[in-house]
Amino acid sequence: MAAQETVEHKYVYDFAEGNKDLKDLLGGKGANLAEMTNLGLPVPPGFTITTEACKAYLATGEEPDGLADQIAAHLASLEQAMGKRLGDPQDPLLVSVRSGAKFSMPGMMETVLNVGLNDRSVQGLARQAGGSGDQAAAGGADRFAWDSYRRLIQMFGKTVCEVPGEEFEHALDDAKRAKGTRNDLDLDADDLRGLVDAYKRIFLKHTGREFPQEPREQLDLAIRAVFESWNAERAVVYRRQERIPADLGTAVNVVAMVFGNLGSDSGTGVAFTRDPASGAQGIYGDYLANAQGEDVVAGIRNTVPLQELEKLDKTSYDELLSYMARLEGHYKDLCDIEFTIERGKLWMLQTRVGKRTAAAAFVIAGQLVDEGLIDLDEALHRVNGAQLAQLMFPRFQLDHEFQPVAKGIGASPGAAVGKVVFTSARAVELAAEGEDVILVRRETNPDDLNGMIAAKGILTSRGGKTSHAAVVARGMGKTCVSGADELDINIPQRKFTVAGQTVTEGDVVSIDGTTGKVYLGEVPVMPSEVVQYFEGELDPEQTDDALVKAVHRIMSHADAARRLAVRTNADTAADAARARRFGAQGIGLCRTEHMFLGDRRELVERLILARDEKEREAALGALLPLQRADFVEIFREMDGLPVTVRLIDPPLHEFLPPLEQLAVNVAVAQERGEDVAQEEALLAAVRRMHEQNPMLGLRGVRLGLVIPGLFAMQVRAIVEAAVECAKSGVTPRPEIMVPLVGAVQELETVRAEAERIIAEVTREQPVEVLIGTMIEVPRAALTAGQIAEAAQFFSFGTNDLTQMGWGFSRDDVEGAFFWRYLELGIFGISPFESIDRDGVGRLVRIAAEEGRAARPELKLGVCGEHGGDPDSVHFFHEVGLDYVSCSPFRVPVARLEAGRAAVETDGSDSR
Ligand code: ADP
Ligand code: MG
Ligand code: MG
Repeated sequence: MAAQETVEHKYVYDFAEGNKDLKDLLGGKGANLAEMTNLGLPVPPGFTITTEACKAYLATGEEPDGLADQIAAHLASLEQAMGKRLGDPQDPLLVSVRSGAKFSMPGMMETVLNVGLNDRSVQGLARQAGGSGDQAAAGGADRFAWDSYRRLIQMFGKTVCEVPGEEFEHALDDAKRAKGTRNDLDLDADDLRGLVDAYKRIFLKHTGREFPQEPREQLDLAIRAVFESWNAERAVVYRRQERIPADLGTAVNVVAMVFGNLGSDSGTGVAFTRDPASGAQGIYGDYLANAQGEDVVAGIRNTVPLQELEKLDKTSYDELLSYMARLEGHYKDLCDIEFTIERGKLWMLQTRVGKRTAAAAFVIAGQLVDEGLIDLDEALHRVNGAQLAQLMFPRFQLDHEFQPVAKGIGASPGAAVGKVVFTSARAVELAAEGEDVILVRRETNPDDLNGMIAAKGILTSRGGKTSHAAVVARGMGKTCVSGADELDINIPQRKFTVAGQTVTEGDVVSIDGTTGKVYLGEVPVMPSEVVQYFEGELDPEQTDDALVKAVHRIMSHADAARRLAVRTNADTAADAARARRFGAQGIGLCRTEHMFLGDRRELVERLILARDEKEREAALGALLPLQRADFVEIFREMDGLPVTVRLIDPPLHEFLPPLEQLAVNVAVAQERGEDVAQEEALLAAVRRMHEQNPMLGLRGVRLGLVIPGLFAMQVRAIVEAAVECAKSGVTPRPEIMVPLVGAVQELETVRAEAERIIAEVTREQPVEVLIGTMIEVPRAALTAGQIAEAAQFFSFGTNDLTQMGWGFSRDDVEGAFFWRYLELGIFGISPFESIDRDGVGRLVRIAAEEGRAARPELKLGVCGEHGGDPDSVHFFHEVGLDYVSCSPFRVPVARLEAGRAAVETDGSDSR
C-alpha cells in the first residue's frame, strides 16, 4: 500500500478557509466565523472540525483516521499565530471548544471554555494577566486566573464527564455563603483557589480520576464530548420537534480564548441589528462588564442595555456598530452577534442570521426592500404562511404587569383564557354552564377527547409538539401548550403548583399556544391587526402600523406572482362574503348538507319515510325553494366568480335522531298511550339504515343513484337560482360537483339527468353551468382518464383521498394512535395536516396528468383542508393545479404560499 497515494480526507478547516455557504460541512457557527474572518472582522483565530468528522466518529465510536494529526497541525499554526502554546505553564494559550450544527439548536449542545488551564498554567495565566506588576493588578489577575480555572473544571466536568452540574453550583453557593455574599465578584483569588480544590474533589468523586492536567487530552476529550452531544437525549427530542434531520452531525469550533472577565475595561455581550421582536430598526442588545460569555445567557448578573456601552467604552462601541452595519449589509438580513471586549479590544465571537418573531419577519422583509438590500421576490421568500397564520390569531395584550409563570411548548397557536379544570368530565360540565375552561392534564389520552372539545385551551406538563394533546388540539384548531414541566400537577386534589403558587380548580389562567407561555389570571386579548387589514378595517396606506404595511406589500407581490388561484370553502353567504374580503377568487367547495339541517330536518325525515313517489316528491318539492334561496344568496355574494356546489355527500341517516333517543321516545310515548306510528316508522328506518362503516357506505354519488329525485332537486335548485340571479343582473358561475365518484359510469348517469334539467331551466335565460366531479376515491384517481371524458373539472377531495388512501378513519385514528406514529417517525406530520406527497400526492399527480391528457381544458383544483396548508400548497403548485380552495381564514395563507411557490426556484426551505 502506497500511503502517499491515499488522498487524506480534509476534516479540519482554518477560519480563513471557510465561508458562510459551507454550513453543511462547518455548521452555522463555523461557517459564519469563517465568513467574518474573511470580511476582516476581528475574530480570534481558530479552526473548525467538520460535521463529516462528527458523523464518522458517531458511526464508529472512534476518531476517523487522520483527524488527530490534522488537529495537531491546525493547533500548531494557531499556537504560532498567537505566539503561545496550549496550556504553556509560563504563558498559556487557552481555547474554547464549541459545538455548532447546520441549524441552530439553542441550549442543546455543549461548549467548554478555558481549555488548556491546569495547576501550573493557571499561575502563568495570572502572571501574564497581571502584566504591569502593581499590587492591585496582580490581585485582580490572580482572581481572574483562578476564576477561569474553576469555570473550566465546572464546564468540563459537566459536559465532558457528566458530573451533575448542581454539585458545582452548591460548592459555589457554599463559598459565597462562607464569605457572606451573594455576588460571584466578591469571591477573591484565595476563595476561588479553595473553590478549585472543592471542584476537583467533586470531579474525582464522580469520575474516579483526577481532573486531567494534560492540555491536549483536555482538548481531545472536549471535542469528543461535543461530537457526542449531538445524540444527547434533549438534542434528539429538540430535533424531532423542530423537524431537523437526525443525521447531520455537529461541527466543532476550536477558538483562541479572549477574556471579558479581566476587569472593568472588559466585558461581553450580545447584539441584534434590529429588534427581533418587532423588527424595528435600532440598536438592541445586552452588555455585562467583567464577565465571560456564558454569564450573559445564564442571567447570573443583571446586564445593561447595549447603548450603555457607549459611555463605558466609546471606541469599542463605535467599532461594534460599524461591524453590525457591515454584517447586515453583507447578510442582507437581521444578524445576531456575540462579542467580547478584552481590555478595550473588541472581539467578534459569533454571528448568524437571527431568529425573529412572525411580525418581525414581515416588517424586516419590507424594510430590507425599502433599503434596496433585497427585492420583493426575496422578501416573499423570507416570510411564510405559518407566520402569517400566527399573526391572524388574537393576541394577549402584555404591555403591563403580566409575567409568565411557566413556559412550555407552543403546540397549537392562539390565546386562550379560562377556568382551570383537571378532568375531562368537569370540563364538559362547566362548558355546558357556559364557562370558558382550560383543561389541565399531565398528558392527555383518548379518554380526554370530550374535555378537549369542551375546553377553550389545553395545558399539559408533559409531551412535545407531537404528543397526543398537541396533535389532537391542532386537528381541532384549539389552543394548546404542552410540556410545561414547571407545573406540578396533582389531579386527585385538583390543583397544580408553579413558581411557588398554587392554582386550584376554577382559578383563571391564560395560555399562549404560540409562545408556550402560561399566565395566572385573565390576560386581556386583543384582535389581530392583520385580520383587521384583511377585513378592510385598516387601510394600509393610512395606518402607521408597520406590520400592516409590510403584510400588504408582500401579499400584493404574492398575488402578482402566483399562478394558483385561491378559492374558499364556504357554505353560507356570510362565509362567502368574508372569504371574498380575504381575497378568495370563488368558492371551491359549497357543501349542501347544512341545507338539510335545522327545521328542514323534518322534510328529510319525510323524504326518508316516503311510502310512495308522491310522498317523496312532496318532500323534495318542499326542499327545493329553500335550497334555491340559499344559492341565490351565495351567487349574489360571489357575483362574477365561480361557485362549485357539491351535491349532498353524507349518509342520510346522519340527519335522523340517534337510535337510542328514538327508542326512548317510542317507549315513553307508548307508556302514555300516545300515537307512535310516526316514531316507530322512524325507528325502523334508523335500524334499517344503520351502517357498520358509514364512511364507506351509502353516501355521495351513491345517494344520487339510489334515491330518485334527490340530486335532480338539488340541480334544479342550483340552476333556478342561477337563472334568477342572471335575470337580476348578477353574473352567476355555477359548477355542479358530484362527490365520491369511483367510476365514470356513476358520473355519466348523474350527468345525463343534470343536463336535461339544465337545458330545461335555462331555456329562456342562458347560464353556463359546468359539471364535474370530486376525485377522492383512489379508484377515481387511477381511472381519471376515463372520468375526465364526462367531467369538465376535477376537484381533489384530499381528506377522503387520505382516509381511503391510507385506510385511516380520521375521527378514529387522530385521537387514538397518531401520536405514536409521529413518535415512531412513520410520518413527520399528520397526513391530514399536510399532504403525503409520496402516496396520496402520487394519486393526485396521476389523476391530474391522465385527466388533462384526456381533456386538455379540464379545470383542476383541490378542496380538502390541505388547500390551506403551506407545504401542500407548494405541492399543488408543482403538480400544476389551477386553484386551491380552503376555509376563509386560510385564504391569505394560501395566497402567500402560492406566491412563494411561484417565486421559489430551488425549493429550499426558510428555516
Ligand atoms: P452557544 O452556541 O450556546 O451560544 P457558544 O459556543 O457560542 O455557545 O459559547 C458560549 C459562550 O461562550 C458565548 O457567550 C460565547 O461568546 C463565549 N465564547 C465562546 N468562545 C469564546 C472564546 N474563544 N473567547 C471568549 N468567549 C467565548
Ligand atoms: Mg453562542
Ligand atoms: Mg369527501
